[in-house]
Parts: sequence; C-alpha cells; structure tokens
Amino acid sequence: MEFRYNCSECGRGFPIEPQLMVCPQCSVLQSPDQPLHGVLEVELAGEVPADWEIASLLPVAQEYFPPIPVGDTPLWAPQRLRRELEFPGLYIKDDGLNPTCSLKDRASFLVSAFATKFGIDEIVLASTGNAGSSMAGVGAAAGQKVTLFLPKAAPKAKLIQALQYGARVFRVDGSYDDAYDLSLAYTARFGGLNRNTAYNPMTIEGKKTVSLEVFRQLGRVPDHVFVSVGDGCILSGVYKGFRDLGRLGLADRLPMVYAVQAEGSAALARAFECGVFRREATSTVADSICVDVPRNGFHALRQLKEHGGQVVTVSDEKILAAQARLSRSTGLFTEPAGAAAFAGFLEALPRLPDGAVAVVLATGNGLKDTAAAGRSVQIPEKVITSLDEVSGG
Ligand SMILES: *Cc1c(COP(=O)(O)O)cnc(C)c1O
Repeated sequence: MEFRYNCSECGRGFPIEPQLMVCPQCSVLQSPDQPLHGVLEVELAGEVPADWEIASLLPVAQEYFPPIPVGDTPLWAPQRLRRELEFPGLYIKDDGLNPTCSLKDRASFLVSAFATKFGIDEIVLASTGNAGSSMAGVGAAAGQKVTLFLPKAAPKAKLIQALQYGARVFRVDGSYDDAYDLSLAYTARFGGLNRNTAYNPMTIEGKKTVSLEVFRQLGRVPDHVFVSVGDGCILSGVYKGFRDLGRLGLADRLPMVYAVQAEGSAALARAFECGVFRREATSTVADSICVDVPRNGFHALRQLKEHGGQVVTVSDEKILAAQARLSRSTGLFTEPAGAAAFAGFLEALPRLPDGAVAVVLATGNGLKDTAAAGRSVQIPEKVITSLDEVSGG
C-alpha cells in the first residue's frame, strides 16, 4: 500500500511528514471562530490481498503500534430492543469497550504509532475529556509524555482518568475552544506532536477503523449508520473507512450516515441548513459533543452533502431517555454522547425502510459521566437495616 496526504479542500497531494498538519495553501484562509481549513486526508493506493487486515490499510506500519488492545469492539445484536422497536436490523457498536472506554482510542492509537515512527516523545492536545484521557492511556502504554489542556468543566471522571494514566494536565479557565487555542500555542512554542482533533490528520484516519470493523463484522456495508457529532471527526472517520473500502474495490456503496447533534450544540446542523458556521454559546448534557466551533466542520459538512447524509438534532431530555432505555433494554450503558446517536436513531426510526440494517455507534462508556446518568435515576433515600423493611420483588 502507498499513502500520502491529500487536501480535502483543494485536492493537492503531499508526502506524509510530521511537520505537516493542515494544507499550507488552504490554511491561510483560516479565521478565528471558524472550522479548520485545509484538513488533510490520507489517500491510499495499491492492491489489497483477499485476506486483508485492518492494519494493512493504515499509514503507519504495525511495528510502531503501541502495545494496547484498541478496537475490535463488539457489535451487539440487541434482541430485546429489536423486538420492542420492531426493528430486527438494529446493531450497536460498543466502542465504550476500548481500553480507555471511548472511540477516541482509535485516533490516539494511530497518533501514538505515528509519534513513535518519527521519534517524537511528547504528544499535546486539547480535549473535552475523552480525547485527553484516551491519549493519556495510549501514551502510557507507549511510554510517551502526554500534555493535556482541559476546560475546567470537563467531567471529573475524565480528568481523574487522564491524571491516573500520568498525563500532565492543565485545566483551562474557559471552554474547549480556549483549550484548543492554548494547545496549539504550546506546540508552537515548546514542540511535541499536536493531536488536536482534525488538525492532526491521523485522528480522522485512526477513527476510520470503526467502519472497517463494522464491515467485517456484518460481512456487508450497513444501510444506515448513526453517529453523534461534536467536532465532526468521528463522522469523517466513519465516511473515510467506507470510502476506502470502495476505493479498494471491497465495497460498492456507502451507508446513509446520520449526524446526530444535541439541540444545545448544533453548529453543524445549522450549517447544514444555511451553509455557514457561526460561533454560539453551547450547552448540553452530552459534554463530549459540546463544542462552539466544530473543528472539522467544513470537512464533515462536505462529506454529508456529497454522500447524501442526514442531520438529526435531539434534546437533552431525549438523550437522557435514550441512555436509560438502552441501559434497561440491552445492558449497554453508554455516556450521553453515545446515547445521542441512539436518540437520533429513535427519531429516524419511523422513516427507516423495513428490513434495513442500521448501526448505532455507542462512542463512550456510561461510567465516564455518572452525574449525567444520575439525572434519570432515583437513588433510594431510605437506608435499611433489616429485611423486615422490604418486600419481595
Ligand atoms: C468525541 C466524542 C464524540 C464526537 O466526536 P467528534 O469527532 O467530536 O464529532 C462522540 N461521542 C463521544 C463519546 C466522544 O468522546
């Protein structure tokens, strides 16, 4: 296989090297409060053997992979939920079962391998929480230094997780967007490999493995895929995986992809309607998809338009209800951002054709944010001392 970068905006090709993050030509268009210009995609060319492996479709060789079992997550066939919804083609990809409990591990894995290949020992990033704890864990496995900028509102579990893995954490008095800018300034001043989502091309490329796995697990391309969207990097990774399969002649179509956003953080959904991104104050229970400026917004929007994708927005109430429903009907406890994708599926369900195969991406584990999940349960107030106080269930 041969790999190079291609600018997603102007199409120019570049060799893959660690100094190059975004297209030097297109990034001059960059203005503050706007998504990234000049996001680079990895283009691959060559013949795939019939017994192809996922690793062979990645631009960094296996010898550089960090020693941590990322990916290969189960694709659930939730029988009870299927019956309740009368939708037998529903699958759930449980990416909360990655080592640090979110899909972000797929990106961190490839970024870590890339840093190892090029002899870079510090990785720097901003995160709403999961990307940071993910990079911290994967970096720990590889023996890399991880420097993390976290907004002060990040859920405690994610902060503690990153610290537990030994990352150096700066808590930022501001939003994710402020943390993002600080992390870029840090690498400009002190060096290291920046892993910011979409800015580092290995992030989208790493996330494509989720589609490659779904394809192999199902033995086909699903008809519909539901993915929650903050920065739009997972969305682009999902498309990239299926597009690569097409390019290599392994599949002949793309799924219909649904970008699911929280009503309180719906910049991509608005841009889908009116074509422009506006910075607005955001707030949602799904912290992992709460972003003022979707960093990969232009790229994600182009993918959706080009491939006939759809956008769904869901309220916080619906997200929390979807989270509880999934937990109770399947045994899969996902964090609010993962539940948002399922809430999007429930919205779209009346329009889905009979017999269709739909995959919902559960992108993170529910224990990452117990405060949010706690909102839809009632913790018993009464404390008992003997069985005389209870009745049989
Ligand atoms: C990061 C994240 C998302 C959204 O991914 P983007 O690339 O920011 O769109 C969704 N769910 C979880 C659990 C995440 O951590």
